[in-house]
Amino acid sequence: MIGIGFDVHKLVEKRPLVLAGVTIPSEKGALAHSDGDVILHALCDALLGAMGVGDIGDHFPDTDPQWKGASSSVFVHHVTLLMQERRLFIVNIDCTLVLQEPKIAAYKHEMKSAIAALCSIPESRVNIKATTNEHLGYVGRNEGVHAFVVCELQKL
Ligand code: MG
Repeated sequence: MIGIGFDVHKLVEKRPLVLAGVTIPSEKGALAHSDGDVILHALCDALLGAMGVGDIGDHFPDTDPQWKGASSSVFVHHVTLLMQERRLFIVNIDCTLVLQEPKIAAYKHEMKSAIAALCSIPESRVNIKATTNEHLGYVGRNEGVHAFVVCELQKL
């Protein structure tokens, strides 16, 4: 089964920039109810999509106080439990981050390791790609960040 996830968050000053569970030095971070980790949010949606069980908003509504300020790794953990119940394992995860600033090349390996650890899979099953938005639109003006994630699941 294949799943796709997309997420966007607004970038504002005086907020941490958390991507794939890694806090990256940055003048701006995501404005969000949770930690605003676009990669982990898109990952949850990709995994939920592959399972055919709705989206992150269905499972972790931002109106529910229990998720206020929650680390997105908590969401990923819940989603992996749903996969275990269905005896599904991750074949691979492929992430694309679209961010104008800062450059995240130096953090890609740490992000990949963090996703592999959260999902209990080898790092070889996770890929992180990053691109700028060529200074175009709101991502290009560093007012927002996008992430796309595709995954494949298989039955054990
Ligand atoms: Mg989000």
